[in-house]
Amino acid sequence: MTQPMRNPEIRCKHLFINNEWVNSASGKTFPIINPATGKKIADVQEGDKTDVDRAVTAARKAVEPGSVWRNMDASDRGRLLNRFADLIERDRLYLASLETFDSGRPFNDTYNTDLSMVIKCFRYYAGWTDKISGRTIPMDGEYLCYTRPEPVGVCGQILHWNFPLLMMTLKLAPALTCGNAVIIKPAEQTPLTALYTASLVKEAGFPAGVVNVIPGYGPTAGAGLSEHCDIDKIAFTGSSKVGQIISQAAARTNLKKTTLELSGRTPNVVFPDADMDRAVETCRNGLFLNMGQYSCTASRTYVHEDIYDTFVRKLVEKAKTWTVGDPFDSRTMCGPQVDQEQFDKVMSLIDSGIQSGAKVECGGRRQGSTGFYIQPTVFSGVTEDMRVGRDEIYGPVIQVIKFRTMDDVIERTNRASRGLAAGISTKSLDNVMTYSSHVRAGTIWVNSLNVFGAQTPIGGYRTSSNGKELGEYGLEEYSELKTVIIRTPTSM
Ligand code: ADP
Repeated sequence: MTQPMRNPEIRCKHLFINNEWVNSASGKTFPIINPATGKKIADVQEGDKTDVDRAVTAARKAVEPGSVWRNMDASDRGRLLNRFADLIERDRLYLASLETFDSGRPFNDTYNTDLSMVIKCFRYYAGWTDKISGRTIPMDGEYLCYTRPEPVGVCGQILHWNFPLLMMTLKLAPALTCGNAVIIKPAEQTPLTALYTASLVKEAGFPAGVVNVIPGYGPTAGAGLSEHCDIDKIAFTGSSKVGQIISQAAARTNLKKTTLELSGRTPNVVFPDADMDRAVETCRNGLFLNMGQYSCTASRTYVHEDIYDTFVRKLVEKAKTWTVGDPFDSRTMCGPQVDQEQFDKVMSLIDSGIQSGAKVECGGRRQGSTGFYIQPTVFSGVTEDMRVGRDEIYGPVIQVIKFRTMDDVIERTNRASRGLAAGISTKSLDNVMTYSSHVRAGTIWVNSLNVFGAQTPIGGYRTSSNGKELGEYGLEEYSELKTVIIRTPTSM
């Protein structure tokens, strides 16, 4: 078993602009806290609007017509992306350890799951660089018409803290594949892996200005990107509230394009014919993954009334085996919440569940006295009029809700305005077809939850998302389509 680096050296703490490490214009820094201990592990340079301006100038130069990046053969762009993936693979242990140190996500998961997916994604998109093509369209009249996809230009990418390096990859890989320049603002809680990866951008040989990283806070560095008139597109993952702010800023300034990945609150429905043990395990793993800090987590578990009591009993047994502790320990499945704010938010929602009459079947408390640990929690007797039955909890808290019929459960799951994903456990093909055709959600998992591939698009319906990430569809978000119409000589 691979042993983590428990105290990884923090090598990159500056802003990365135009392939150089620089101080922030203000000279300010901000602290990075280890969620497992609550102690500071580094001070990082704090970028703001002035630094965003500097990065935009560099990025614009990198994508302007005639630049090295713009003139590079598509296959050479692919070689650079593959080289970048090689370097990430070389430094996999360091990156996974750094991610665990910064975010509290268990090392087993950062090393085995996240880094595998990050490397696969860069390689997957590397293969696409020279396969992005337009079409010849047989239009009326004496014309030749063809389309050609072109880069959007300068893309701002505002990241969330839940899977820091993976979230960056979902945005950075397709953007580079299509030939854009990017300015990344990592979440203020977790900027370390994005910063280290920037050093690999330079080592891989990307031209200056193609990738820039500005750590800092949302209302300063983040708003600097969303309000900038020379940025062509913003991609964002985070809360719906901030998604709306970014959307408004984009519209108010230069109507830049936006791709938004927002809140989820995924329903997971268990029918009486499901393989019960598998459904219980899927439910537990699907929710407790990443301490519940994920919009796809199936926190609303709808269980048919005929199997409700048995399901809850079995789920509680399973939940108790979800080991909480030091994220560097190989036995740990549940590390700390990312910061004090998230910890307080989850604890207050647990409290509101108790106040509103839901039953805590297990967990419900803080674990230990240092760090931001919360016990894996199962609530039964939850209804949608309770706050825990409605709000996105973003913590290791499962709410088990009773349902009676297919129509009833479809109506209730669709009542929420979000529609990122949905799950169903059943052996019946009829159930699968009915549920998957009527539920308003971007992904439907059948007898599974949280399954992703570099090749498969994700992105929700309604208020959950705007645009898709991953797969071939993810490329569309980073291309402009140009139509060329040429008058042809009159035919004989
Ligand atoms: P959460 O509420 O889950 O902590 P947020 O939506 O607040 O997540 O944060 C996600 C990302 O959005 C972070 O990188 C954060 O700095 C950024 N952000 C927060 N506020 C703004 C804002 N007003 N403008 C642009 N970005 C912001």
